[in-house]
Amino acid sequence: MTITATNPHTGEALQDYASHTPEQAQAMVEQAHQAFLTYRRTSFAERAALMNRAADLLEERVESLAELATNEMGKTLESSRQEVLKCAKACRYYAQEAENHLAPTPIKMDGQRAEVRYLPLGVILAVMPWNFPFWQVFRFAAPTLMAGNTGLLKHASNVPGCAMAIEDIFRDAGFPEGTFQTLMIGARDVEAVLRDERVKGVSLTGSEGAGRAVSSTAGDVLKPALMELGGSDPFIVMPSANLEGAIGTAVTARTINNGQSCIAGKRFIVHRDVYEQFRDGFVQQMGALKMGDPMQEDVDLGPLATAKIREELHEQVQDAVSKGAELLVGGEIPQTSGYHYPATVLSGITPEMQLFAEEAFGPVATLYVVGSVDEAIELANATRFGLSSSVWTNDEAEQERFIEGLEAGATFINAMSASDPRLPFGGVKASGFGRELGREGILEFVNSKSILVG
Ligand code: NDP
Repeated sequence: MTITATNPHTGEALQDYASHTPEQAQAMVEQAHQAFLTYRRTSFAERAALMNRAADLLEERVESLAELATNEMGKTLESSRQEVLKCAKACRYYAQEAENHLAPTPIKMDGQRAEVRYLPLGVILAVMPWNFPFWQVFRFAAPTLMAGNTGLLKHASNVPGCAMAIEDIFRDAGFPEGTFQTLMIGARDVEAVLRDERVKGVSLTGSEGAGRAVSSTAGDVLKPALMELGGSDPFIVMPSANLEGAIGTAVTARTINNGQSCIAGKRFIVHRDVYEQFRDGFVQQMGALKMGDPMQEDVDLGPLATAKIREELHEQVQDAVSKGAELLVGGEIPQTSGYHYPATVLSGITPEMQLFAEEAFGPVATLYVVGSVDEAIELANATRFGLSSSVWTNDEAEQERFIEGLEAGATFINAMSASDPRLPFGGVKASGFGRELGREGILEFVNSKSILVG
């Protein structure tokens, strides 16, 4: 059996990769478990030296890794470079901070000595998506390995080259054999790995469906699970906002990664006093983006990652138009090779349209008009997702009301929602549970052990 990478810009097959049999996967689980038994005893300083070396390798290999990502999933070459460099930052952040984050916490106990220690759990499985093929993995691997666990990666089937390149980085950085391995298996083989008693937890980033399946298995075998699922994030603009800044950022938010970002603004909720100005500027800038070959430096928008993603996105747009939405720009599949889709803006969205409730995973924006903070919050929360939110207002009282009222894992004020190694990242509602990054991220896969010396 093989896993085939396809170039989404041309639609042509790139390379076949041999997949692992269930027996080979079992042997890799055993190797990860054996590696854990010795790796767990390494000091933070030893792990940090290895993690900093992994960061060096990411920086040294940035061009070849960026080309690999762009060829396999279609993001623009410059955004692939930025992604690789961000991974290096995450490695360096945890190399430096892991020991502080996991320092024993003393507890006052009436004369007895007590503390909480943070011990590694063992082999942790990562089920990862293709949209940020390096970043999604490194933001799992850097904290998980620095905490003393070992990692097994089941990456998305359309980025097998990236999956192998990540294993190479950890091996070449000097991490002991078995500390981080890539399993070349399909989605249906994940359950058996997760049920293996040597595997102690799972972290998944992806769709709601994948999250439900994997967290159900984790629940059945009582293992900790971290779920980072989709989002239908609101981007709210109020009259006091810097409108020019809000429009430019809205365009970036909706088209970053060719529109395939879980944390990006997708529903643009604008106060009626500035609605027309916002709409006109936004539509003009969205329509001016250059779509094309993501390897060309002047291209803004590459293809979607797969034919299926494009098909589903176009169906959502057609569903809205057929039910009365107004198509302001885009919305037509171009007559080119690959899976391209233009920057698209719709207004007049109503609750019976798919785009009102579903995540749009591509460069499709929906516009809404509101008359007050309460109305904006109500509309923003009228989704089963709750990953992030971006609010544009210079009124401090309004800012507080949005922070309190929005049901989301993050609220960015006058800024685009974006992940950063220092800030915890994760959602509420159907966007998942648990947190990656920051101190919270490294605490996900440790045993917070209470110690009392009587
Ligand atoms: P999936 O959720 O299907 O894929 C993500 C990962 O989960 C892949 O490694 C996939 O493996 C694996 N997977 C899928 N189903 C299962 C399962 N039942 N059991 C175990 N593992 C599973 O994402 P898609 O690529 O299909 O994208 C579909 C939608 O998911 C998007 O339109 C978007 O809404 C959402 N999404 C959200 C992301 C985010 O960042 N939150 C990232 C990517 C997608 P395999 O590739 O082998 O199927």
